[in-house]
Amino acid sequence: SDPDTEETFDAGSLRTPIVAVLGHVDHGKTTLLDRIRGSAVQEGEAGAITQHIGATAVPLSTISEMAGALVDPTDFDLPGLLFIDTPGHHSFSTLRSRGGALADIAVLVVDVNDGFQPQTEEAIDILKRTGTPFVVAANKVDTTPGWNPQEGQPIQQSLETQSDRASSRLNENLYELIGDLSGKGFSADFYWRVQDFQSNIGVVPLSAMTGEGIPDLLTVLMGLSQRYMKEEMSVDVAGPGVGTVLEVKDEQGFGATLDVVLYDGVVREGDTVVVGGRDEPIVTEVRALLQPRPNAEIRAEKQFERVEEVRAAAGVKIAAPDLDEAMSGAPVRVVRGDDEAALEAVKREVREELARIEVDTAEDGVVVKADTLGSLEAMANALEEAEIPILRAEVGDIAPRDVTVAQTAKEDTHKVILGFNVDVLPDAEEALEHADVRLFDDDVIYQLVEEYEAYVEELERAQQETVLDKITKPARFRILQDHTFRQNDPAVVGVEILSGTVQNNRAVAKFEGSEPNRVGTLSGIQHQGDDVDSAQAGERVSVAIDGPTVGRQIEEGDELWIELPEKHAKILEQELASEIRADEIEALKAYLEKRRKTDPFWGK
Ligand code: GDP
Repeated sequence: SDPDTEETFDAGSLRTPIVAVLGHVDHGKTTLLDRIRGSAVQEGEAGAITQHIGATAVPLSTISEMAGALVDPTDFDLPGLLFIDTPGHHSFSTLRSRGGALADIAVLVVDVNDGFQPQTEEAIDILKRTGTPFVVAANKVDTTPGWNPQEGQPIQQSLETQSDRASSRLNENLYELIGDLSGKGFSADFYWRVQDFQSNIGVVPLSAMTGEGIPDLLTVLMGLSQRYMKEEMSVDVAGPGVGTVLEVKDEQGFGATLDVVLYDGVVREGDTVVVGGRDEPIVTEVRALLQPRPNAEIRAEKQFERVEEVRAAAGVKIAAPDLDEAMSGAPVRVVRGDDEAALEAVKREVREELARIEVDTAEDGVVVKADTLGSLEAMANALEEAEIPILRAEVGDIAPRDVTVAQTAKEDTHKVILGFNVDVLPDAEEALEHADVRLFDDDVIYQLVEEYEAYVEELERAQQETVLDKITKPARFRILQDHTFRQNDPAVVGVEILSGTVQNNRAVAKFEGSEPNRVGTLSGIQHQGDDVDSAQAGERVSVAIDGPTVGRQIEEGDELWIELPEKHAKILEQELASEIRADEIEALKAYLEKRRKTDPFWGK
C-alpha cells in the first residue's frame, strides 16, 4: 500500500486501538461500518483508509476531518482506530487476546425502535465479563416519524433542526434504552452528558443510513481510547508479533490460511510462528503475508497483494504450511531468535493460553461445537451455570465423529450435540439421520441452552409417563350391598372406587391391621356393560376377582385395596407424586400409613 499513509498511520509508538462492533442481527452493524468507510471516501480521505483482512483502519486525520469541530487532532496522539469488520459473525466478540477480549473497545449497536434483543443481551454479558469498555450506538434515529435528515452532521446539530414531536418521540426510545442499560447494571446517559466514560456508558444517537451522529461516535471512541487506553497502547511496536486467529480459510494456491488480527508487535515474511492447534501448538514458517488489493484492482485471480511485514494493530492473512488444524480464536505468536529455547518459550506461552480456555469435561454429557475458542468458552460457562455436563467440547463444524461421540453418551438426554455458530458437514447430516442423536444449533447461547433444557424436560416427562404406565397405582374400593353377581371362580361383585385407580390384572388385598392380606387377583372390570382396563375414583363398576368366595374371604360392604408392590409405592411417593391425581395421592398416603404402622421404613 501507499508508503505515505503507512507513515502517517504508524506515527509514534502507540498502537491503534481495536474496535469491535456488536449488536443484534439487523440492528445496523454492517451499515454502520460501510458508512464509516463511505463517509471517509466522501471526505476525500479514501487513500488514508486502509482495508485490512477482516478489519478497516481509520486514521486520526480522517476522523478529525469527518468529525469537524468535534475533534481537535492536536488533542490526540493515538494513530486512529482499527474496526474489526466481520459483523455477521457476532461471536467474534468472544475472540480473546491473552485472557482478555480481543477488542480494546466496543460499539454496541441497538436499533432505537427495537431496543434490547437477545443478541444485544448476549453482547452485553460478554462485554461485562471481559470488562471491555463500550459505547452504545442508538441507531436508526432517521426512522423516527417526522425526522428531518441531516446527512453526515453531528447529532446535536441535527437534533436542533427536528420538530418537537420528532425529538420527543426519539427521546422516549432513547430513555427506554437507557433504562434497559441500567437494568443490566450500567448507568448510561447521552454521551454529551457523560463526564467519566469508565463508570458511565455513553449513548450516541445516530443513523448509519444518513450518517448523522457518526462524527460523534468516532469522537467518543477516539476520546475514550485516548483517555483510558493510552497505557495499553504503548507497546513495543517492533517486538515479535502477537495476534488472534479470526478465521481459518482455504485459499486457492495457498491451502489453509489464517485471517489474523495482530494486536502487538510485527510479523514478517519468513518468520517462525506458533499457532494454537487442535491437539498441539503448530510451529510453521510464514510463506506470505496478504492484504486485500485496493478496490479498483480486484480481479478474481489476484484478490490479495503480498506485503513484507505487518505492524500491530492490523488484520492480515497469513499463508503458511500445516495450518489445517489451527482454530479460530487461537493465539498466534512470532518467534524471534532461532534458538530452540526461544521456540520452546513461545510454545509454552501458546499452550498456557489454550489451557486457560480448556473446558472441563465429564464422564457423561453433551457434545459441544462452537466457531471459536472464545465462544466455546462462553458456551462452557453457560452450560456450567445450567449444570449441564459436557462430554466433549471442540471448535469447528459438526462432523460425523461428533455424532459418533454423542451416541456413546450414557443418558438419553446426553445423546445431544449443541452447535453454536457452526455448520453441519454433509457427512454429519447423513450420520445424524441414522443415529439416535439430537442436534440443537443456534447463534444465541442462552437460547441454545433453553432449547436443550426444554428438550430434556420433554424427554423426562415422556419417560415418566412410560414408567407410570407400568406402575401399579393405589386404589381403595368398597363392595356394594346386594351386588354379588357370582359367588366364586371368579367372584363377580359391584364396587365403588373410593380413591385412586383400579387397574385390571392387579392383586387385591384386604387390610387386617397393617397387613394387607391378598384375597385374589382382578381378572376383569366392566363399566356399564363394557370391558375396561381401569376405573377411577367415583366410578361404580363390576369386577371379577380370581381367588376368593363372597361370604368367606370377602363380604359385601368390605373395603378392598389394590396391593402395592413396595418398589412401586416408593417410586410413586418419591418421583411421581406430581404426576398423579390428588385422589391417587390420598389412596397412596392411606396405604403407606397403614403399612408404616408396623414398618416405619416401608417403601422408603
Ligand atoms: P446487521 O445485521 O446488524 O449488520 O444490520 P444491517 O447493517 O445489515 O442493517 C439491517 C437493515 O437495517 C438494512 O436493511 C439496513 O439498510 C437497515 N439500516 C441500518 N441502519 C439504518 C439506519 O440508520 N436507518 C435506517 N432507516 N435503516 C438502517
